[in-house]
Amino acid sequence: MKLFKRITTPVDSANNQSALAEMALKSIHDGVVITDKSGVIQFINPAGASMAGLNSPDKAIGLDYGLVLRIESKEGRELSEAENPLIQAMRTNQPLESFQASLFVGQSDKRVPVAISVLPSEGLNSNRIITFRNIAKELEEEGEQAEFISTASHEMRTPVATIDGYLSLALNPQTASVDERARGYLTAAQAASKHLGKLFQDLLDATKLDDGRIRPHFQPVEMNSLIQSITNDHAPRAREAKVNFSFGTGQNLSFGESRRLDQVVYSSVDVDFMREIMDNLIDNALKYTPDGGSVYVNVRGDGDRVLINVTDTGIGISSDDISHIFQKFYRADNSDTRTIGGTGLGLYLVKQRVEAMGGKVWAESAFGEGSTFYVSLPRLTQDEYEKRMIAVRNQSLQAPAAPAAPAAPAAQPTVPVVPAVPAAPAAQPAAPAAPAAQPAVAQPAMAQPAVAPQPVAAPVPQPVAPVVVPAAAPIQTSPPEPISSPKPTQIDINLNGGRT
Ligand code: ADP
Repeated sequence: MKLFKRITTPVDSANNQSALAEMALKSIHDGVVITDKSGVIQFINPAGASMAGLNSPDKAIGLDYGLVLRIESKEGRELSEAENPLIQAMRTNQPLESFQASLFVGQSDKRVPVAISVLPSEGLNSNRIITFRNIAKELEEEGEQAEFISTASHEMRTPVATIDGYLSLALNPQTASVDERARGYLTAAQAASKHLGKLFQDLLDATKLDDGRIRPHFQPVEMNSLIQSITNDHAPRAREAKVNFSFGTGQNLSFGESRRLDQVVYSSVDVDFMREIMDNLIDNALKYTPDGGSVYVNVRGDGDRVLINVTDTGIGISSDDISHIFQKFYRADNSDTRTIGGTGLGLYLVKQRVEAMGGKVWAESAFGEGSTFYVSLPRLTQDEYEKRMIAVRNQSLQAPAAPAAPAAPAAQPTVPVVPAVPAAPAAQPAAPAAPAAQPAVAQPAMAQPAVAPQPVAAPVPQPVAPVVVPAAAPIQTSPPEPISSPKPTQIDINLNGGRT
């Protein structure tokens, strides 16, 4: 009997492979577009065609990719060519990884959220491969998660503030008398409740910044005066921490001392964002700098940027940690940081706020010697600043008269209303055994119980009803509060009597 055997030639095999590859591309749910080097579509799979609103892939062949893949920013903002990463990646044949955008479905106004990647090919033809994935479901799940965190944090702040209120009463010699041992326990409990309150506040801010519920309200500002005034607010804390603290001295800068530090420099920023950013950086610098160390804050113009630095001579950050410190919940773990309280959210919030204002933040550090945190923001020329100030003034003149002032909302008390005499606990438990594990918060000195250790700043007041201002229109419509009368000064707040 004769046996027939199929002989596979190399050509057959290549054809077979490409047929299989095409079959795979046609069956996947992600969109795939292959263009030539000038961006003309050579191939689009059915999923891609359908996401782009075409009823057949054939309709896209031979068209420029820009006609088929029309995108805007994920927030729904039109992207100029310069800020459109898809155009840039296609033009320069550089890779693009998972850029989130809104893709127009055909010629309609309907859009789908997508993550787009571009893979340059190395072959002779310089083909570009664009892949895009519908991320509507992912975003929905992320949104639900954020909503949960946000609601939970919001709800949990109230009981934590109540606990804090009762602890303050218990620690106040005018409202309660406790023996020294109990005072120590209560002080530790208060430090932990403050830490929890700060954590909830930071979580709330992080979710709101993530989903765009907090957006910057830009206004023209003279930065030297603004940063100086924020810095001054930290002087008492620096004195308490026994740290030399100065503004505008130029110390520990990485450039020659000849550079002027008393410059008047302008920018368009959200003043509340700036306060949060600087509070965080200065708090950290003070927190991670031992007694007798120094913290310097400087502001100067650097070409078309305003550059702020917060420098300390503290514990420093290792090279392993430095690339992670701006991530959510990241805390360097070493013998120094273990005893210093924190949430690991502060620098994440700094980064979110700086980037929302079109800026950049980064850190340089030598472990064991100190750190410098830099914030760079777009700079305005004096001319631009003055024009914006005039525009702001005109806007406020044209704004309709404000309605009669409503009764001032009662300020949110840090300590909620508590009954004059708190209900006594049902049964006075026998003195509890000393806690097995040391609480994570800094252990207070038993002899100074009235001042709870504050490893982190008090919770930041929550901005009420954030006003949404499109990023493209940096001049805000809300009442202007320009930082007036810039005073180009160079002050030196030496809090430690000649120790600088
Ligand atoms: P935390 O609440 O822990 O301070 P942050 O997000 O503000 O959280 O900072 C993240 C980590 O970066 C900190 O846990 C600390 O390890 C490190 N870090 C931040 N600022 C400094 C600094 N000035 N000096 C040394 N380490 C710092």
